[in-house]
Amino acid sequence: MEASAEAMASPNLQLALSRLGETLALGNRTAFEKLPGSSLLRDKARAIKDETLAHLDEHLEQLERSILARGGHVHFAADGDEANAIVAKIIRDRGVKRVVKSKSMVTEEIHLNAHLEKCGVEVTETDFGEFIIQVAGERPSHLVGPALHKTAEEMRDVLNDRFGTQLTDEPHVMAQFARGHLRQKFRESELGITGGNFLIAETGTVVVISNEGNARLTSSVPKIVVSIVGIEKVIPKLSDLPIFLKVLARAATGQKMSIYASMITGPRKPDEGDGPEETHLVLLDNGRSKILGSPMRESLFCIRCGACLNICPVYRKVGGHAYGGTYSGPIGAVITPLFDGLKDNYHQPHASSLCGACQAACPVKIQIPELLVRNRAAQHETHIAPRGEEFIYRMWAKMMRSPWLYTTLTRWAARVLPWFAKDGWLTRLPGPLAGWTKIRDFPAPSGQTFRERWKSLAEENEANPE
Ligand code: SF4
Repeated sequence: MEASAEAMASPNLQLALSRLGETLALGNRTAFEKLPGSSLLRDKARAIKDETLAHLDEHLEQLERSILARGGHVHFAADGDEANAIVAKIIRDRGVKRVVKSKSMVTEEIHLNAHLEKCGVEVTETDFGEFIIQVAGERPSHLVGPALHKTAEEMRDVLNDRFGTQLTDEPHVMAQFARGHLRQKFRESELGITGGNFLIAETGTVVVISNEGNARLTSSVPKIVVSIVGIEKVIPKLSDLPIFLKVLARAATGQKMSIYASMITGPRKPDEGDGPEETHLVLLDNGRSKILGSPMRESLFCIRCGACLNICPVYRKVGGHAYGGTYSGPIGAVITPLFDGLKDNYHQPHASSLCGACQAACPVKIQIPELLVRNRAAQHETHIAPRGEEFIYRMWAKMMRSPWLYTTLTRWAARVLPWFAKDGWLTRLPGPLAGWTKIRDFPAPSGQTFRERWKSLAEENEANPE
């Protein structure tokens, strides 16, 4: 609540968020409108995810076999600690001191950077937005645009403060500086770390999508490449990939196709000119297999495009940091409580108006509102909702089941609430209702319930049929 209020009071954040509607959200809508049969394509993508998850164990085994056959290494990590330990060991055993990284939400989820830095390793983020927030010491606020909460002026200040430069806030000036700085890091680093948008079981390929080319450099310049990917990212065949490339780019940015689709299929072969000499894939579970066997399974269809964030009226007011977890927006409000506990993330499933815009924008048609309601129900069933709230909902349910109680109470409310109105609006309610009007106003009731008005209108019509 405090984080949301702080976010809404920040003019810079509000300016940055206000642009989402006419940029990314509009891009998504227009791109799908222009694609013939886009709804069928999204159904197809969804069906592949559904079918793959139904036999996830078999696909993961095939993926492992394919990678081993091409000379790569595969590691399974039950949780974030295990994944961090695996990566740290690879780094330690090879005497690596410097690492470059391409943007990856999974590594944010397991706090990999902090772990490696504790081990004395220099980690450099190479996606421009991620680089900015790493320098600023912040967390990403969006699945696709990690520094989306920052204006160009703020980015300029972050860079100038850290590097003692005199850059202007023109995007090409800052990008040119970052390019020069990062090229040097690519040359110096012995190991590259990537996430992965898709894993192809048939060929043993890790697919990394980017628009800046940094993922390609991360996965081809250093001698060793380590990819850390959630187990749900596997798809069966190479021929499935184009379907996802089409829907991901359109949903995320409105592009027909993302600029780079880097494909890591084992280490380079003796006759190949470039590429890593050693590749590792760390397959992360971290609660995913538990979700797989639950009614929340559908949340694993997510391809992290960010479209549900861009369209969400709540996200567009409070931004990503107010959610408090690694993942924000509607899908974050679904999966963060599943990963990190319903109690510790009590507010998340409630950070939604359930308007359904997220589901309409989702390229794999995840029924996000339904999943949010399921999270709320689970909080209720496990009695972790605050007592006051439980009591109110119990009373509400009682009232909705009793026509007499409903009529009496709505009559009472319709007559009493106008006492608190000012110029036809309820701007300040008393007692426990004060929270509702702290940040929103309601039109005051007319003094009659809907049924009463309906009845009097019907009577009027009867008396004057003309
Ligand atoms: S839930 Fe859907 S819209 Fe949201 S990030 Fe995932 S795939 Fe994209």
